[in-house]
This record gives sequence, structure tokens and C-alpha cells, in this order.
Amino acid sequence: MKILVLNSGSSSIKFKLFEDQVAIASGLVEKIGNNQSKIELKNAKTGTKLRRDTYIADHEKGLKLINELFQESGILHDLNDIDGCGHRIVHGGKNLTEHCLVDDFVLAEIDRVSAIAPLHNPAHLAGIKTMIKAAPKVPNVTVFDTAFHKTLPDYAYMYALPYDYYAEYNIRKYGFHGTSHSYVSAKAAEILGKNHNEFNAISAHLGNGASVCAIENGKSIDTSMGFTPLEGLMMGTRCGDIDPATMPFIAKARNLNPDELDAVMNKQSGLYGVCGFNDFRDIIDEIQNGNDLARLALDMYCYRLAKYIGSYFAILPHTDALIFTAGIGENASIVRKLTCERLKHLGFEIDTEKNDNANGETLISTPNSKVKIFIIPTDEELQIAKITENIISKK
Ligand code: AMP
Repeated sequence: MKILVLNSGSSSIKFKLFEDQVAIASGLVEKIGNNQSKIELKNAKTGTKLRRDTYIADHEKGLKLINELFQESGILHDLNDIDGCGHRIVHGGKNLTEHCLVDDFVLAEIDRVSAIAPLHNPAHLAGIKTMIKAAPKVPNVTVFDTAFHKTLPDYAYMYALPYDYYAEYNIRKYGFHGTSHSYVSAKAAEILGKNHNEFNAISAHLGNGASVCAIENGKSIDTSMGFTPLEGLMMGTRCGDIDPATMPFIAKARNLNPDELDAVMNKQSGLYGVCGFNDFRDIIDEIQNGNDLARLALDMYCYRLAKYIGSYFAILPHTDALIFTAGIGENASIVRKLTCERLKHLGFEIDTEKNDNANGETLISTPNSKVKIFIIPTDEELQIAKITENIISKK
């Protein structure tokens, strides 16, 4: 089966084409609507790349170019020839809790939920509609970041706000990165020879966005992101947990409106807010150059991460594994080391040599460690392709 996976952002389309669950091509349409827009496609078999620097006005033009580059590279005759298209959707809201085939209800719901996911859902919707137009016979499947967290109990997803806000606006914790947390935890269970539905883990997805998830018997029971992907850990440019009362204080002090406050919390905070760098590679370089604020940012990041892992260790009846994944989790050995060192007394014992030399999927705990510690590279696109294949096979 040929499955195209699309991750449509507000100014980009990330795409990957799979044939029988093996990636055969991938690429990125960037800076849509900007005169520096471009598209690049990589043929996974030959390693060859095709690139076009051209004005890409909108998602429709972007998809048209994806199709043209597929044709030019000989990978695909036409978009209509694929068996299905899987779309990554950040927020499913309260009604879209299962990955599913796209229909009018799904489109309307994604649109409705845009009010609480304005950075993501409108772009996802544009991606789906463009795909429907370009290849009307190809079934489209939506795969929600929030779906894995549908198993959160009410006492975990409720906020201690007036109940009316939940009843009227569905304000509650939804959780994100579900596709990644479910993929890496299933992979860790497989490595340990356990059934996923009898497996308990704490998964730390540490990319530009970052979240931790407590998984009991293969199901998410708590996660650090909330109503939006802002709650929880300190991230590249997002503040994560803060005292909510700081925001009205800052609004008054700096005369900021709600949108400006939102920008402060989402775009000007986190690692960037503390030290002026949001990429861990730069932060590590800066620390070596003696930058104290970069060191502070690293210490804050690992301290906060350790606190979340410790709290999930407390609520799980037992923990089989701790998993690090995504850009920082997979590559920043210093983050794994500093975090696990704080958790040693709970039975998380990291093997520093394995940690320093890890490359790809690696067990980095000592033989004595009560909790197995893994690095597992995430593959959200493969997971989306598998889910898409599964859903369209049942059609
Ligand atoms: P992601 O969102 O999963 O693509 O992760 C992106 C982030 O991973 C970047 O902003 C970096 O902070 C981090 N990252 C990627 N590669 C490395 C690396 N080799 N060492 C440290 N951090 C890295």
C-alpha cells in the first residue's frame, strides 16, 4: 500500500511517502506565502534530492509541487495513485478522540476546535481540503495528537477552575504528542518482550515542543501538556508551567493584550526566554563558552523534567521504562544525564558511557537500574502511515 503522510503547518507542509510501511520519499514545503518559499524532496532509495525555489502562494500550490516532484523523480505517477493519505492533526478536541476517515463531521469538528488550536488546526484543515481537491478518490485519515490521551481519568484532565468553564468551553487537559508517546512506548515494550497493554512507562518527548506522558498498561494516564501545547515542561520558546497570576500582572505592568501575552508565553519564553537560544546545540556551545544564562537554562530544563518524571513515577503502580525521544531526547546526552542523576534514588540509574556513545535506539541504564532507560527515536510519520493503512483496510 502507498500511503502519503502530511503534516500541514501554517507556512509549511512536511510530507513522507510510504510503500508497505517503508519510507520511499520525504520532503518539506517551506515558507508558504513568502517569496523565499521552496520545496525539497528526497528519494529515500537513491538519496537524491530535488529542490525548487519558487513562490508558493498557498497549500494548494504546495501540494501541486509535491505531486510534480514525485512525478519528476519517478517515485509516483500521480497523487491519485496512492491508497490513502494520513494527516497529522494536533487537536481533536472533545469529540474527535479516535483516529478516523475524513468526512464532513470531521472537517467541521477540526474547524470548530481551531478556536483552541489556532496555530495548528486551520493549517491542518487547509491540508486536508487541498488533498481532497487534488486527489478526490484517495481516502483521507486524520490522526490526532490528542487521541492517545483519551484515557486520562477525569481527576487528571480537569482543572480546578469553575466547573462551568469545562461545561461551556471544554476547558480541560487534552495532551499532545500522543502519536509519538504511543509509538515509542510500544517500541520499548517490544524490545523488553512485553505486551504493550501490560507495560508501564514514562515517555519524554523532548523536541521544540516537549511533553512527558505516564503510561499504565499501554494507556496514557497523565501528560504534561494541557488544554494547549503550552502547559508542562520548559520548551524551546514556550514557558511551560508558571504561576498563572504572573500573566495578569505582566499584562498590567507592560500594558499587553491577551494575544500579546500569548506570544510572550509561546514565542518569547522557554530556553529562548532565559538565555536567548532555543536550540540545544547552541546552548551546549554557549555553556562551553562560559555563558551563565545558557547553563541556567539547561539546569532549569533538567530540573523541571526530573520533577515531572518523579511525579509520574509516584502515580504509576510501577515503572518498567523511561524513554527519551525527539530532537533533544535523542541527541542531548547532557539532558538525559542531568535529569537521570536527580532520579537515582528512585531507581533510575544511567550508564554514562552508554549515554554518551548512544546512537539511535539504545538501552542506556545500568544492569542494576530498577527502571530501564531507553533512547527510542520517534517516527510519528510511520505511526500515522500504519494507522492510516489500518483504517482504510477496514473500509
Ligand atoms: P524536534 O522538534 O524533535 O525536531 O527537535 C528539535 C530540537 O532538537 C532542536 O531545536 C534542538 O534543540 C534539538 N537537537 C537536535 N539535534 C540535536 C543535537 N545533535 N544535540 C542537541 N540537541 C539537538
